[in-house]
Amino acid sequence: MSEKKDKKTTKAAAAEKAAPKKKAAGKKKSNAEQFEYQAELQQLLHLIVHSLYTHPEIFLRELISNASDALNKIRFRLLTDKDVQDPDAEMNIKISIDSEKKILTIEDSGIGMTRDDLINRIGTVASSGTLEFVKQLKENKNNVDGNMIGQFGVGFYSVFMVTDLVTIETRHAEKDGKGYRWQSDGRGTYTIEEIDKATRGTKISFRLNDASQEFTEAHRIRHVINKYSNFVDFPIFLNDEEVNKVSALWHRQKSEITDEERGEFYKFISNDYADPLAHLHLSIEGVVNFKSIVFIPNTPPSPFFRPDEEKSLQLYSNKIFIQDDCKELLPDYLRFLKGVVDTEDLPLNVSREVTQNSPTMIKIKNTLVSKVLSFLEDMSRKEPEKFRTFYKNFGNIFKMGINSDFSNRDRLINLLHFSTTRTEGEETISLKEYTERMTEGQNEIYYLSGEQKELLLNNPNLEYFRKKEIEVLLLTEPADIFIVPSIGEYDKKPLKSIDKADIDLKKDADDESALKENLASALIDVFKEALGDKVEDVIESKRLVDSPATLVIGKEGMDTQMEKMMRMMQQDFAGGKRILEINTSHPLIKNLSRLNIGSSTDPLLRKSIMQIYEGALLMEGSLKSPGDFIKRMTEIMTEATK
Ligand code: ADP
Ligand code: MG
Repeated sequence: MSEKKDKKTTKAAAAEKAAPKKKAAGKKKSNAEQFEYQAELQQLLHLIVHSLYTHPEIFLRELISNASDALNKIRFRLLTDKDVQDPDAEMNIKISIDSEKKILTIEDSGIGMTRDDLINRIGTVASSGTLEFVKQLKENKNNVDGNMIGQFGVGFYSVFMVTDLVTIETRHAEKDGKGYRWQSDGRGTYTIEEIDKATRGTKISFRLNDASQEFTEAHRIRHVINKYSNFVDFPIFLNDEEVNKVSALWHRQKSEITDEERGEFYKFISNDYADPLAHLHLSIEGVVNFKSIVFIPNTPPSPFFRPDEEKSLQLYSNKIFIQDDCKELLPDYLRFLKGVVDTEDLPLNVSREVTQNSPTMIKIKNTLVSKVLSFLEDMSRKEPEKFRTFYKNFGNIFKMGINSDFSNRDRLINLLHFSTTRTEGEETISLKEYTERMTEGQNEIYYLSGEQKELLLNNPNLEYFRKKEIEVLLLTEPADIFIVPSIGEYDKKPLKSIDKADIDLKKDADDESALKENLASALIDVFKEALGDKVEDVIESKRLVDSPATLVIGKEGMDTQMEKMMRMMQQDFAGGKRILEINTSHPLIKNLSRLNIGSSTDPLLRKSIMQIYEGALLMEGSLKSPGDFIKRMTEIMTEATK
């Protein structure tokens, strides 16, 4: 072994992305072939060994979890295919400790690995999240919790926290398969050689390093198993004594299960390291029969994973694991939920095709969705704080259901929550609450969209609403901009953007301060002439109180925020023209009218018009040439201070 090691340390760290490289050197002595890890994996391994100190015991959880996965796979296969290696072998996990030699062995009778599996599954990083994990490890070495490793699909490597050399001996369930030994010190390379292995499954053994001697104690190992792996659905033996006695949690009475047990179960199935936000325990009998525990995580989905890498519900049939992440059980907009569904209604020889096309699955899905929505409805009423956390974490995924699940559309709309001109801090309200406190004579629901609440509150289009004490929804979530306009109306009241020209505003009849009609229309003509085709139209405003002017969108136009997003996606997106509304009661507009009476070509008048227009663009965040704006402002100020 030491001979091999020397060779590894002297070799240059050829960091190549490509698939594993065979090293001729390793071939000499035995029939072992030597391979190099992918560059990313080398980095990961280096970091695991040098900067992951917290929770070293999770290596055991990860190895047991892999053994359990492997056993689930063979059990599933045996439902339809007995023609495998050792069809009658007992399915279990055996852990043994040799305290003298400090050697730990974990053996399972699962599906095993082929030579290709050893190269492609053990030697290669598969998940998009892994590189992010590597980055996090590098950036804040001391704050990354080893506990997180399972999430990133690299759990196996946590074993290098407690040892310097790992041996895997494995034989795949395939009838004419062969046995292989894989070995690595977790630095740059690993070796694979063919061996005689009589039985199906995988055996992993290693000598505990000096820092990890605690794991030579059986009681310590038992403690770790009870903490992390109690829910493994196969017997776990520790030095021949069975240590896990827990049966399927979802088959037990709700009242018998402690929060702690449930929390650990959640972590076990989800790979999350925090407790869940909420859970729902179902036992459904009738048209369709199933038991289920569904969890809402407490943390938002990781931005590092593609949505298809997130695992949602596991499917069981009569307590037998059928599928991880069964996509047929939940619609996309609820895929952030974690948990299990166990049904007696599927035939025992379930295959992917069966789960994809079965009417039973559709019934389960419909029932689940309905129960989850009721649960959320209850939560929004009885536990607003919790609901807010849920909404903050998953609202943007969840809302998408409005445009895809038409049978539950109304219920989903009722669950929407918004910040408004009247809510404070984190507080949000539903559309129902909004309509219940509408002002007298108000027939429409108003909204304004933008990036931040603080900026929206300065929008001049709000002035009228503020004066009339009409509440306006403030949409700051990108998803809202797609969802809200598509709702159309709620409780027979149309939803309208206050950015638009066609809203039902009532100008105060007693407004004596405004310009007389002929003066106003003469000034408007000059505005139109000066702005030319920059705007669609110039009109007198009913909505402004304190500001001289504002830009609004024509009836057919796109929401400002939506337009901004389109522009981000499509560089040359032109967007619609705006309508400029002017406030004929504003002193500035009245001064301009006076200049206009003097001469409609007065340069200060023209300059001011341009400045008003660009000021309004600046306000909504779409002024493209601040240079001209500032130059003109300087000129006007110079004039004013003359
Ligand atoms: P993950 O379990 O998230 O896929 P791991 O790093 O824990 O990531 O394991 C990588 C892969 O190695 C597994 O997906 C599996 O294919 C294979 N593997 C690991 N341990 C075993 C085992 N005991 N039996 C069979 N395959 C295994
Ligand atoms: Mg794993």
